[in-house]
Amino acid sequence: MPFRKRTGAEIRQEFIDYFVEQRHTFVPSSSLVPGGDQTLLFTNAGMVQFKDVFLGTDVRPYRRAVNSQKCLRVSGKHNDLEDVGLDDTHQTFFEMLGNWSFGDYYKKEAITWAWDLLTQVWGLGKEDLWATCFEDEKGEIERDDEAAGYWREQPGFDPTHILFFGRKENFWEMAETGPSGPNSEIHIDMGPSHCEMEDDPAHTCGVNVPGCTRFLELWNLVFIQYNRTGPRTLEPLPSKHVDTGMGLERIATILQGVDSNYKTDLLSPMMDAIQQLTSHDDAQREENLTPYRVISDHARAATFLIGDGVVPGNTGRNYVCRMIVRRAARFGGKIGLHEPFLARVAETVIDHYGAIYPEIVRNRATILENLTREEKRFARTVEAGVAKLESLFARTRASGQSVLSGEAAFDLYATYGLPFEITRDIAREQDLEVDETGFKSAMDGHRLASGAGDAFGALGDEGVEIYRELLAELQSQGLIGPEGVAYDPYQKLEVSGPVLALVRDGQAVSTVEPGERVEVLLPETGFYVASGGQVSDTGMIVSAGAVPWAIEVEDMRRPAAGAIVHVGRVSAGQPRLGDQAIARVDVQRRRDIMRNHTATHLLHAELHAVLGEHARQAGSLVAPDRLRFDFTHPEPLTDEQLARLEAGVNRDILENYRLDIIFKPLEQAISEGAMALFGEKYAETVRTITIGNRGSTESSAGDQAPLFSYELCGGTHVNETGDIGIFLITSESSVGAGLRRIEAVTGRGAYQLIQSRFRALNEAAFMLDATPDQVPEKTRLLIEELSENRRQLISLQREQVAGEFVHSLENVPTVAGVAVLAATLPGADVDTLRLMADRFRQRYPSGVAVLASVADGRPTLIAAVTEDLVKRGLHAGELVKFVAQPLGGGGGGRPTLAQAGGRDSSKLAEALASVPGWIEERIQAEG
Ligand code: ATP
Ligand code: MG
Repeated sequence: MPFRKRTGAEIRQEFIDYFVEQRHTFVPSSSLVPGGDQTLLFTNAGMVQFKDVFLGTDVRPYRRAVNSQKCLRVSGKHNDLEDVGLDDTHQTFFEMLGNWSFGDYYKKEAITWAWDLLTQVWGLGKEDLWATCFEDEKGEIERDDEAAGYWREQPGFDPTHILFFGRKENFWEMAETGPSGPNSEIHIDMGPSHCEMEDDPAHTCGVNVPGCTRFLELWNLVFIQYNRTGPRTLEPLPSKHVDTGMGLERIATILQGVDSNYKTDLLSPMMDAIQQLTSHDDAQREENLTPYRVISDHARAATFLIGDGVVPGNTGRNYVCRMIVRRAARFGGKIGLHEPFLARVAETVIDHYGAIYPEIVRNRATILENLTREEKRFARTVEAGVAKLESLFARTRASGQSVLSGEAAFDLYATYGLPFEITRDIAREQDLEVDETGFKSAMDGHRLASGAGDAFGALGDEGVEIYRELLAELQSQGLIGPEGVAYDPYQKLEVSGPVLALVRDGQAVSTVEPGERVEVLLPETGFYVASGGQVSDTGMIVSAGAVPWAIEVEDMRRPAAGAIVHVGRVSAGQPRLGDQAIARVDVQRRRDIMRNHTATHLLHAELHAVLGEHARQAGSLVAPDRLRFDFTHPEPLTDEQLARLEAGVNRDILENYRLDIIFKPLEQAISEGAMALFGEKYAETVRTITIGNRGSTESSAGDQAPLFSYELCGGTHVNETGDIGIFLITSESSVGAGLRRIEAVTGRGAYQLIQSRFRALNEAAFMLDATPDQVPEKTRLLIEELSENRRQLISLQREQVAGEFVHSLENVPTVAGVAVLAATLPGADVDTLRLMADRFRQRYPSGVAVLASVADGRPTLIAAVTEDLVKRGLHAGELVKFVAQPLGGGGGGRPTLAQAGGRDSSKLAEALASVPGWIEERIQAEG
């Protein structure tokens, strides 16, 4: 290759220098944790720190910026985790080089500089570069001919190397509304030998062809020119922006003449460090490429994450850090690295990146300590977790299934610290899958999800150690049974006993003060601990002794096997270790939850009756104020299906079925056809809940069959279905491919909903001066009346425009003997313009008119030419195109009548003034 070999550091610097020379301000990389952005877990592109500038909520002292940004793509919309280790071009962590214009330069400069940097400064072969531009497959948004035009102007650019793609590839949107625009991607042809599909006869290499590794996306230039205000409405932005991003590792691969990001000097030092640790020879390293890549990538990512303050933990960002460290550790195990080793690889990262990113040098000790500690923690549980997983897999297979339930995966995480992603890795190695949606909703249900798991998150899993020790001590003193805390959420809504432990900030303490957060351990409890989608109970723990105190219980958790703790806040007095206490569940709230849980079983059974057996539970939330149920079904439910579901559940409620709750051997329950929902928790003996009439055990329930619900469930339920009161569906929506979600309310929640709907209806009726039953009909009439009025208003406006137009018809000037009228008709719509053009032709049997109006800043034009002048070479279509050109628009039509639109009305007067000149020229040319 013709170019000089550069190091990654040099490439990064040359990029920055190039744009500084073009008067860009260098802006340092922001943290991997986005500042003040709750919607985003990690910085995943260079633009994240400039989001507020694009949204217009902030300004910067510069209008051009350049930087190299730390990015992490392991969560949310951008998740490349599954590619890492398997391909050469995706990392979880990578650096993105970018240049920005905030209302300053636009497409022309962005394209010209990109081309210049790639081909002149870096000497890339011009014949190898391709550019993609935007063309809307729906035909709603304008094609980006502007960008394509600038590409064609670049010296040496092969014009056949411009390709147009649709929204997925070439239209960028920040969110459902807000800044958006077309983008133009630069791809590089790495040569036919780079294609991994080479041997597939059905494959033809090309840009954006799935699986084609011959063409690589290098640089994305985003042109922000619209503000999306709705699903089909884009408004032009007053100032337009440029946002570009190029992967440093990818350009380094090209400029260093290698075939993989992992062979550049940005990643190869980590690969080498691992090889030193394993003492592999090169052939062995090559055989184990996937573990090498994963460890290199994850060690680098974790180093930067911890450097930015994100340490391994249970929730949100901390979970991600934990997951990548543990995943790296597991891949280490595959190549014989069983002792903690990641700190060694991290040292290499710090040595190579410290000069540019000083935060990892500053936090060196924290990074190394956290990695080693996390590896040790994981080592303690991983074996038991994997063994458990193996037995779950065996059971999954034996039942003829290939997908492990999300609940099971969650339990593996909660009990053995096996992150979902690792469970999935292991599953895939055995050709199985894990239900990710189910895992997420289990996590939701347990309030472990990011942001929601306050109590859990605050303590991290240091709590595990503390409670293991506490429990062992209490058991040796005989204060607590060998099974741990006695748990009976079904019978005991109130229990009493001594306070066995108080834990504050992860430390066991002997007393706590008012207002402090605390975890309380009692010998027994009736508070339900979130499980199977049902949320935890809340309530009060109060002193039963002479000195009063109270703790408000806000949550429950099970930090270690046998330990069940009440999480709350001291609302009065000073609770002390050993005090006698009474713990009371908030009964009202608990009843709401029980109604929702039983209703969930009814809903599940009715879904089978209405939709079929395929509608299986994929996730569930049972809260006091609502229930949420996710299930597999390929399409939205019809109104009729929803009505049948709701009616079915309410019929089941009115039948007032008694619930049969029976413990029986697991095998028996399964063979009887019980719906197994959270498979992993089943002991030998399971709790079964039956509602309705079994009918004949053998025949499955047909459409007309009476209700029969039979589930394995550890949740709390009402005694009879009539206790539920009423059931109302509040929404039905999609939560992913083939997954639907129903939300509903029961009992008190349903009553409140009915009440507020009634109030709204009564209010509407009052305003319409009607009875509630008359509201729909009256509203329909009013809407009709309104649109009739609107029609009349339009026709009045038209008449008014026409009236004014008649005046201008009187003094029409002539050009070369032809009557020529070029005028603006304020407030006229297209139909009115056409009508007026007709009037003109009636008045002047020989003449030319160009009529314009402006709506929302966008001009519309109509050109009319009488027949005789068409014969003399005047064409309305050509005329209107000529006039619309300076307005940034185009148009066309028949020789006698044509129409055009434009984008910019500021030059309208000027454009209209050019009409006489055009006509004169044409007539003279025709002689
Ligand atoms: P791809 O389709 O290859 O995943 P992308 O469309 O996700 O890329 P952008 O979001 O446009 O990429 O990001 C801008 C640039 O960042 C890309 O052109 C590429 O050079 C680089 N890039 C994106 N994802 C990664 C990654 N996971 N690892 C390394 N570089 C990346
Ligand atoms: Mg991508």
